[in-house]
Amino acid sequence: PAERRWLFADQLGPHFLDTDDQPVLLVQSRRAFARRRFHRQKAHLVLSALRHRAAELSDRCEFRAVDRYTDAAGDRALTVCHPTTRGALALVQRLPGVQVLPARGFVTGMADFAAWADGRGRLLMEDHYRIARRRQGVLMDGDEPAGGRWNFDADNREPPPKPRRGRSGPPTLGVPEPWWPQEDEIDEQVRRDLDRWERDGDVRFVGRDGPRRFAATRHEALQALEHFVAHRLAAFGRYEDAMLADDAWMAHSLLSAPLNLGLLDPLEVVHRVEDAYRGGQAPIAAAEAVVRQILGWRDYVWHLYWYLGPDYPAGNGLRARRGLPDWFAELDADAVQARCLSGVLADLRDHGWVHHIPRLMVLGNFALQQGWDPAELTDWFHRCFVDGYEWVMVANVVGMSQFADGGRITTKPYAAGGAYINRMSDYCGPCAYRPTVRVGEQACPFTAGYWNFLHRHRGELSGNHRMAQPLRGLDRLADLDALLDQERRRGTDPP
Ligand code: SF4
Repeated sequence: PAERRWLFADQLGPHFLDTDDQPVLLVQSRRAFARRRFHRQKAHLVLSALRHRAAELSDRCEFRAVDRYTDAAGDRALTVCHPTTRGALALVQRLPGVQVLPARGFVTGMADFAAWADGRGRLLMEDHYRIARRRQGVLMDGDEPAGGRWNFDADNREPPPKPRRGRSGPPTLGVPEPWWPQEDEIDEQVRRDLDRWERDGDVRFVGRDGPRRFAATRHEALQALEHFVAHRLAAFGRYEDAMLADDAWMAHSLLSAPLNLGLLDPLEVVHRVEDAYRGGQAPIAAAEAVVRQILGWRDYVWHLYWYLGPDYPAGNGLRARRGLPDWFAELDADAVQARCLSGVLADLRDHGWVHHIPRLMVLGNFALQQGWDPAELTDWFHRCFVDGYEWVMVANVVGMSQFADGGRITTKPYAAGGAYINRMSDYCGPCAYRPTVRVGEQACPFTAGYWNFLHRHRGELSGNHRMAQPLRGLDRLADLDALLDQERRRGTDPP
């Protein structure tokens, strides 16, 4: 018989097993939830997925609820696919009977990534992505990229549609709602257990409970994929960077959660999306945008987590040392007046998810401007998002969003004022602040925060040619002193 395979809770798909009848060990650790404060809906999703998998595997699965993983593994003969965090890898390497296999659930192998990265200064996603496209033959017409271009970003930055004249209600993309799962008795049991753990005082969550919104089984994940391809993919590309106050989901796939639980193999998603393009169901710009996110970006941040080494997460190139204020850490949307930030925090509180632009350009941008500690922020993103894992958030937050790695993966900080948010969303209209105003009662905290950030880091950024124009703009500000004084007084109060 095949060796018993230990599956972590993010290794739940069939591709983590060698045969259909391989015996399995699944471990549920309450302590993992007690150590840190996760979003309630993230805890629900992970537990639900784990228990659904145990039920599916039934008599060939040993499902153990223990305090510590070592209690379940003991010194038995087990194999495990390379875990997704350094902590879990060190744990399985310590256990005498456990054999660690190469990672699964990602497209590019570690050796191939290292061969590409070794000796390079800046590790640009675009370079990694094109090599992966060629190697996998994805969206390729012979030697050329399908559609004649590698990159359709310029087509995929449309602002959201404006409200239509004569139509009441907020603007929408006009796409059907995402696929939603039906909760079952396993979800009910999870909900009861989490309520009880919280009542017992062992575990504290952030965010609110709510209906499960993300696939927790292989079957559900495939349904979600098919629904996305059939109904939403075509609109995904052009609006992928846009935000709407009344529509958190827009045309996003919501597949990051089942992908990161290991329920879907990234290549199967990529192939399905390519099929849709080849079959005339989606334009190339939309298909390429999804392939870029999964084959490109997702694999890239996974490899950076390992390749850049154990010190990378502690990078703090801009010496940002302020702690996260409570209102932010606790997702207290009601304390915030700035309509964009309040809306994004409310969506996160209610769903444990917002899409990549609110993450990068509202939450991350504000943290960057305010000088919040990047490691603390990374941990917060990991705990508060249903699809957040350590390997996901390190490069995304430390590298991309907070520019804390000295520019190893991006060419300039993702700092932006209210003008960007105003262009890419419908938040600003009814906001108490004005995106163009820097000083005074109506000063937009993003706009004032942007100039304050540039002023604070003028020295570090002056050698960066992409920052030359913004820094010249800073030199021309007549009201800079008043702005700096205003920002000092604002402190860490909610904006
Ligand atoms: Fe956000 Fe500023 Fe726009 Fe208000 S005016 S919604 S704070 S960007």
